[in-house]
Amino acid sequence: MEYHKIAKQEARWDRSISRFKSDLERYYRMGFRPVTLKAYLDDTMDLAPGASPIVFTFDDSHPSQFRYLEDGSIDPDCAVGIWSEFAKSHPDFPVRASFYVLPSAGPFGPTADAPRKLAQLKEWGCELGSHTLTHRSLAKLSSAEVEKELSGAVAKITEYGFDPFSIALPYGISPKDPGQLTKHHRAALLVGANPAPAPGDPKRNPMRLPRIQGIEGDFGISYWLDQVEAGKFKPYVAP
Ligand SMILES: [Zn+2]
Repeated sequence: MEYHKIAKQEARWDRSISRFKSDLERYYRMGFRPVTLKAYLDDTMDLAPGASPIVFTFDDSHPSQFRYLEDGSIDPDCAVGIWSEFAKSHPDFPVRASFYVLPSAGPFGPTADAPRKLAQLKEWGCELGSHTLTHRSLAKLSSAEVEKELSGAVAKITEYGFDPFSIALPYGISPKDPGQLTKHHRAALLVGANPAPAPGDPKRNPMRLPRIQGIEGDFGISYWLDQVEAGKFKPYVAP
C-alpha cells in the first residue's frame, strides 16, 4: 500500500483521516497483518497461519504521517497516531511501515522533534527508505546527478540510523541506467497500481515492485479489496 498525506478531506494524493481509519479496520477484518518490506523481500514474514501480508509505505515524509502535538503526545489524527490507537485494541496489527523520506524537507517536517520521531519509529520496528534528495524524475537527470540524488539520500538515512536498502522512485521512474539503482538498493518501489507478487513468485522483480495507491477509484484500495472479497484476486495466505 502506498500512502502520501493523511488529510481532513480525501484528494488525489491524500487519504482522509476517516478513510485511513476504515482502511485499517478493513485490512484487519480481511485477515491482513502488517509486515516490513525487508521481511517480505527475505520471505521471513512473521504471520500467523491464515494471515495475509500487507506492506505499508508512506512517501514524501509529510508531517501528517507523524506529528507531535504541543503537549508532546502523538497527534491522534496523523497516520501513526491513528494506527497506534488502533493497535491498542488490535495488538496483532502493530505500527509497522516503511517511510520514504525526503531529507531536504527533514523527516516529517523541519522540526526539533525529528530525533524523537526517528527513535519512536525504530522502537516500533519501522523502516526508512530513500525517496531521493529532491524528488526529481531520475530519467531526466545525468548519471552524475542521479548518483548525487541516490548517494545523498542514502547517506542521510544512514545518518538517521536506518538501513537504506530500498527506494521509492519519485513518480515511479527509474534512471536511464538501472545499474545506478542496484548499486545503492536491493528494492525499488513503483507508484501504481496493483499488488506486488508473493515471495517465491518468479515474476517478482525486487527492483520493480508495484504498489496499490492509497486512494479510491480505479485500482485503488477499495477496488483491490473488493476483488479479494469477490474471490477474483487471491492474496498470499500464510500456511
Ligand atoms: Zn513522492
